[in-house]
Amino acid sequence: MTKFSELNLNPKVLKAIDEAGYETPTPIQAGAIPPALEGKDVLGIAQTGTGKTASFTLPLITMLARGRARARMPRSLVLCPTRELAAQVAENFDIYAKNVKLSKALLIGGVSFKEQDALIDKGVDVLIATPGRLLDHFERGKLILSDVKIMVVDEADRMLDMGFIPDIERIFGLTPFTRQTLFFSATMAPEIERVTNTFLSAPARVEVARQATASETIEQAAVMVKAARRDSEAKQKREVLRALIEAEGDACTNAIIFCNRKVDVDIVAKSLKKYGFDAAPIHGDLDQSQRMRTLDGFREGSLRFLVASDVAARGLDVPSVSHVFNFDVPSHAEDYVHRIGRTGRAGRSGKAFTICGSKDDKYFDAVEKLIQKEIPKIDNPIAKAEKPAKKDDAPEEAAKPSRSRSRSRKPQAEAVEAQAEAPKAPQPQVEDEKRDSNRGGRSRSRGKSGGGSDRGGVVGMGDHMPEFIALSFDERRAG
Ligand code: AMP
Repeated sequence: MTKFSELNLNPKVLKAIDEAGYETPTPIQAGAIPPALEGKDVLGIAQTGTGKTASFTLPLITMLARGRARARMPRSLVLCPTRELAAQVAENFDIYAKNVKLSKALLIGGVSFKEQDALIDKGVDVLIATPGRLLDHFERGKLILSDVKIMVVDEADRMLDMGFIPDIERIFGLTPFTRQTLFFSATMAPEIERVTNTFLSAPARVEVARQATASETIEQAAVMVKAARRDSEAKQKREVLRALIEAEGDACTNAIIFCNRKVDVDIVAKSLKKYGFDAAPIHGDLDQSQRMRTLDGFREGSLRFLVASDVAARGLDVPSVSHVFNFDVPSHAEDYVHRIGRTGRAGRSGKAFTICGSKDDKYFDAVEKLIQKEIPKIDNPIAKAEKPAKKDDAPEEAAKPSRSRSRSRKPQAEAVEAQAEAPKAPQPQVEDEKRDSNRGGRSRSRGKSGGGSDRGGVVGMGDHMPEFIALSFDERRAG
């Protein structure tokens, strides 16, 4: 097995790795670090949780350890699709670069231009940015990209989903063509293939896992919820969620609860809180400082339940999450793999429950097709009690067999449930991933990927609908 000491990393970087407690490189690190240190372009096909961040950060620091940045001319660029991911890369950078003198700036929405401008003015070695924010700085004349020696593109598949590929292509064009490129993507969609063919030069291709595989250490289960009345389904799903959490008891030390829609993130968090669960929401509409506070609380263990949208939780790095609950099935099948990958990390066991409503069936099929296995269906924990409750809107309490195990329920909880139903009705508010980059009013739909919204396909897919999803729908129609 490869050791870190065999990878030709800077001794100060090795020391930091040792202090971080890493013993052996992960496969993506063992595969990507040597060619990167040789100055080659690298195409890394790896998903979050594989150690891919260190696979580009460690060689980046080693290579930059010599030399100094000039004013306004960063020596390297790391492009990330979301601010959370960028912030996380910055944190990783701080850990691994703590013994070397390198400077960094973080260009993301929610962080003031002024502060970052001051840093850039002084000269930074590593500029970590979302593409839109980077271009905003560039267009304001604050940034010169002609001294970029190394450019990293992280989570290119997500960039594609969010319509950032034209921005990425533009940024490639603004950097010297002699630069070294380290390019990472969980999957290789045709558009990504095209970009890598255009901008990477004879890359070392390092692929660490089959596309979209779910970790074997994650126990998966699904509960099918079919309410007689559409309007009571969301409420039932919240009951099911609570029953699942309660049934897991103390084994559920902490959990991320994913919702497709921001409005549901808020409602589910509010409802859980009212039922005595320690929960807080996180999604793109909350301000940056609040998001950071919530994430920190969850990381540190002071918050037990994080209710999240896919974008907000993207790249969230909490090594031990015992459970993931999908409040609904993601419309983008790959998100299922990302979601459940928040648990069962680093060889730990984890459990992932998915609540599948009546409108979720087609997405559920797409997920099973993608992961190439059936997700075991378990009994709806509230199904038995549900029948009498449905007819006459009997109080929710009647439908809960396991209430005695629950934490004390606040008396006003039903009222809150009723309130929570209210804002749900009008228009589906699928998480607007693009907004996450905080690019102000600039249009992001320019470029070649075309508008996803008028494709008549899947709500919330962004500008790109991966082939495998289209396939599964077409086949369904044919059948
Ligand atoms: P990433 O795929 O970059 O999101 O990393 C996933 C997690 O693995 C992070 O918590 C890292 O701190 C951790 N990690 C990265 N490399 C190693 C390693 N060689 N040994 C142990 N943990 C690691």
